[in-house]
Formats: sequence, C-alpha cells, structure tokens
Amino acid sequence: MSDETIFTQIVAGKIPSYTVYEDETTYAFLDANPLAPGHTLVIPKEPYERVNDMPPELAGDVFSTVSKITDAVERAVDAPASTIAINNGEEAGQEVPHVHCHIIPQFRDSTTKPVHALFTGAELSAEEMETIAETIRNTQ
Ligand code: 5GP
Repeated sequence: MSDETIFTQIVAGKIPSYTVYEDETTYAFLDANPLAPGHTLVIPKEPYERVNDMPPELAGDVFSTVSKITDAVERAVDAPASTIAINNGEEAGQEVPHVHCHIIPQFRDSTTKPVHALFTGAELSAEEMETIAETIRNTQ
C-alpha cells in the first residue's frame, strides 16, 4: 500500500479531483465533501504535515495561491464572503496529514458561525498574557 497522502495522490493524478489551480509548488481542488458550494482546498505539493513543518517560503506560496484564487472561488458560486481556515494538527481536527487550507464560501443567508464559535474562550491575566507573548518571542 502506498504511504503517500491522499492529497499527494491527487497531485499525481492517481486520484481524480476537480482541479481549480496549479503552479510549481501548490495545488488547489474542490473538497470531495463540500461544506458549501465551491469549498476548495489549497495545498503545498510537498506533503508537509503541519504549517509549522513547512519552510516559510512554501507557506508563503500556499497563502499566495489562497489570495490569488479566493475571488474566483467566491464569484463562481456568487458568495459575498468566505471562511479561510487550516486545521493544524490532529487535536485541531486535521484528518489528512498534508497541510491544506480550506476556502469555504459563505452566503448572506448562511447559518454558519464564525471561527470564534469553535472555542469557549480563555480568561488570562495581563501577567499570563505577557508570559505567553515573551515565550513566543523568545522561542521563534
Ligand atoms: P481536515 O479535516 O483534515 O481539515 O480536512 C480534510 C478535508 O479533505 C475534508 O474536508 C475532506 O472532505 C477532504 N477530503 C478527504 N479526502 C478527499 C479526497 O480524496 N478528495 C478530495 N477532493 N477531498 C478530500
């Protein structure tokens, strides 16, 4: 059995997909189980599992493709907006271990909630916020 990710097999043409964009380093296609019409996935061709694993240049390429095609995705289904999101890691709901950015068109009558609705919220003191910020600054 192949240990290639499903998405690597899609890029290689071994699994069919509704491809919407391709360049040297990235690929975009319609999600097979769309959350809305036009639901699109943008991936790096190289199968990095998480955003944290990707070289920053490649992460830039992926976001550049998201930026390039989002307008066309929205126009194709007459959507005025979209939710753009990455489930980064298994605990965050990532099912396919190959980075993919969801572009999910949203409509005026949409009942979908914003990303903030996924979380109950964290109450942190100013001291805790500063400690976290300092740790992030010092471990990049
Ligand atoms: P995740 O939950 O990992 O963020 O999202 C994985 C996405 O990949 C899901 O929305 C799922 O519908 C989509 N997906 C899984 N397998 C395939 C496939 O073989 N083809 C396509 N086009 N999408 C897939």
